[in-house]
Amino acid sequence: MNGPLGFVLDLLFPPKCVFCGKVLDTGEDGLCARCQRELPWLTDGEAELTGEFFCLCAAPLRYQDKVRDSVRRYKFKGRRGYYKLYGRLVAQCIHDHLAGRYDLITWVPLSPQRKKERGYDQAFLLASAAALELGEVAVETLRKDRNTEAQSGLTEEAQRRANVLGAYSPVDPSLVEGKRVLIIDDVVTTGSTLSECARVLRTMGAEDVVCAALARAR
Ligand SMILES: [Zn+2]
Repeated sequence: MNGPLGFVLDLLFPPKCVFCGKVLDTGEDGLCARCQRELPWLTDGEAELTGEFFCLCAAPLRYQDKVRDSVRRYKFKGRRGYYKLYGRLVAQCIHDHLAGRYDLITWVPLSPQRKKERGYDQAFLLASAAALELGEVAVETLRKDRNTEAQSGLTEEAQRRANVLGAYSPVDPSLVEGKRVLIIDDVVTTGSTLSECARVLRTMGAEDVVCAALARAR
């Protein structure tokens, strides 16, 4: 926020680095210079992952240490404001790896129950912020009909796939028919959640599916 109110709010609640918590210096925006230098950024080929129903998933960061702690605060400790910086980082990654490869931006939705518990849908916020940076709007294409066990608690790939199989359904197939869809999530691990969403998007008539996430585990 700018203007006098923004100035007062900054004095009362100085903006902090979303990764390490340091109070930001003038000119630092969302993350501190040290984190900018030292975070586990993924480069070129490392940033890209392929999956069964999507041809490419790009992510700017590795999901470890300060990145993991930050994402956990975002998802489980109510730090919803992190979506602004996260959105910028994901938008930059999309620009670098996925430019010209999609017609529509969407996200991996939460179940209504989880959204009620959390108070917000973190992937929706992230996708909306990234889309805005890119001059687009994120469109709701999928709905999650049932609560699934957290994927992070499942170690076997087969378990992870079975856990999300059939969990997502189309909102309105005409939205994606013949389109190339970019789907956004916060963290990608094996890609089984993204792959299941991509599978449903393809049954809805999507021509192609690519993915982006803030961080990649493994
Ligand atoms: Zn920092």
